[in-house]
Amino acid sequence: MTKKLCILPFTQLSVDTNSNAKVCAYFDEKNNLEPASIEEIDVFWKSSYMQSIRDLMLSGQEIEACSSCYRAEDLGHESYRLFFNKLYQSEFEEIVSNTDNPSIYATPKRLELRASNTCNLKCRMCSPHFSHLIAKEVNDPYPLREITEELKGDLFDKTDYFEEISLLGGEPTIDKYSLDYIKHIIASKRSKEIKLVITTNATTLTKDLISDISKFKSCHFVLSIDGIDKLNEYIRYGSSWKIIEKNLEILNQLSQNIPQITSSTIMTVQNYNIFNIKEYLKYFSVYFSSDYSKIRLNVLDGPEHLSIYSLPKHIKIKVLEELSSININAEDSRLCGLDTIKKILAQNEIKDNKAFQKFLFTATILDRLRKQQLKIASPKLFFALFNK
Ligand code: SF4
Repeated sequence: MTKKLCILPFTQLSVDTNSNAKVCAYFDEKNNLEPASIEEIDVFWKSSYMQSIRDLMLSGQEIEACSSCYRAEDLGHESYRLFFNKLYQSEFEEIVSNTDNPSIYATPKRLELRASNTCNLKCRMCSPHFSHLIAKEVNDPYPLREITEELKGDLFDKTDYFEEISLLGGEPTIDKYSLDYIKHIIASKRSKEIKLVITTNATTLTKDLISDISKFKSCHFVLSIDGIDKLNEYIRYGSSWKIIEKNLEILNQLSQNIPQITSSTIMTVQNYNIFNIKEYLKYFSVYFSSDYSKIRLNVLDGPEHLSIYSLPKHIKIKVLEELSSININAEDSRLCGLDTIKKILAQNEIKDNKAFQKFLFTATILDRLRKQQLKIASPKLFFALFNK
């Protein structure tokens, strides 16, 4: 009955920049459920929207909106669902053995918050929804998206609910509300009971933030870095590798002095960086002292033209050759997600031929607009594409 059960509808509230709420960042309502707007946490948590998701899960049904998790599991990867089921194992077991007792999940315990789309970068795979700078670039008349004042107030009032708070963006380390929220939790004297998770592009670490996070029970930084040096600067437009390396050094020192401050890295694997995985693993395996559980290769699902599913067969074969020369053991390969990437590439299934043409077109346009060169960012990809 509980084969596809996920702990998150029973424990987590995920708030998006437009004040829509859902179960988690991977929950894709486009598949079957309409997004629900939220102004009051309690009303949303007890809503028929949330209860219908819980009921479906408790009755053992698959939910189409969760297909990204099921797909990852089919490829042998640890999905978001499995990760959190493991993290909240005792709560998971309690819910499974008390399915008719909703008081167990009367309030959310984990908050995933995208308070706004304020960002200092314009990443190639990103969209106006997550970066106000991209919104400006495409002449969006209302570039800034942020949660409503009502919800901001309610989140301040309901801090007591949460044991873990995950801040995402945009870039939460420059988002005013996210920073105020951190200070509010410290002032309310709850910070020592809360685990903080900050997903950041690692370009904006300030002394003030470092001082604040050390007041929490723990703080984990998820570092969104998609390549080494010039490639990261190319994909994550506006970033400086020099600054990122300086911040990596600061975080390294910090976690040596304060063990409850930790970090891990996540690479959004897409066409642009598909030839640079070996270099990435080499760099971060040194940084994390060969702990591959701290490196996550996360395959981009969309937009389709950037997804590695759209690569033509001859490129997939070349990438597989490159990946076969990576010298890590089977368990580490599974932990970081290298295994999954190899399986996807070996399928040779092309989702849409036109998508790859769109990739070549948009790469060229962005290169011109931003005065960047793919040849410099990823010479291997450039030669694979243009010197067949
Ligand atoms: S199964 Fe996956 S997509 Fe669905 S709620 Fe759980 S973590 Fe989110």
